[in-house]
Amino acid sequence: MIKRIIVLPASLKDTLKEIANKYNECAGALFYLPRKYEHAVVCPLSHILILKEGTPGAVTLDYYDIKKIEKILNNTRLNYILFHTHSTGTIEKYGAYYGTNFSEQDKQIINRFLRTRRDHISMLVTPYNGLYVKFYYDSAYSDLELKIVNWDPYEKDKVAEAIEVILSN
Ligand SMILES: [Zn+2]
Repeated sequence: MIKRIIVLPASLKDTLKEIANKYNECAGALFYLPRKYEHAVVCPLSHILILKEGTPGAVTLDYYDIKKIEKILNNTRLNYILFHTHSTGTIEKYGAYYGTNFSEQDKQIINRFLRTRRDHISMLVTPYNGLYVKFYYDSAYSDLELKIVNWDPYEKDKVAEAIEVILSN
């Protein structure tokens, strides 16, 4: 069993908070260059791509979006996490439950992704308590842990430094 540590830089956290607090839902991908260590794979999120925005309940990512993302990442070693928001509009329209939970439809779609790619990770982002983040992944394949750190993902030395701190904790 591997352990994957998702590292969310504070700047990206602010971006997620901003989009989760919109009325409309958003969906897209977060990119990272995986770093493999003896006991863990560290996944420092560095870029965000918003692919869709629309009315609450109407935004879902499908295979066409995955194809688009994989085309963008072609010939790079970057990997991605899919994300979508349950926005203030979602919660207003469908109830507080969706402020902390994936919908049944979300799970069905993600389970299909997981069947073709066992290491797939989907992330739910909501405005609950300011910002709420939840992952859906194959827990038999890996453990998952989220760390939020203060660093600029474009400063390479700082990334290495932050990872050292994470791994020593
Ligand atoms: Zn959803």
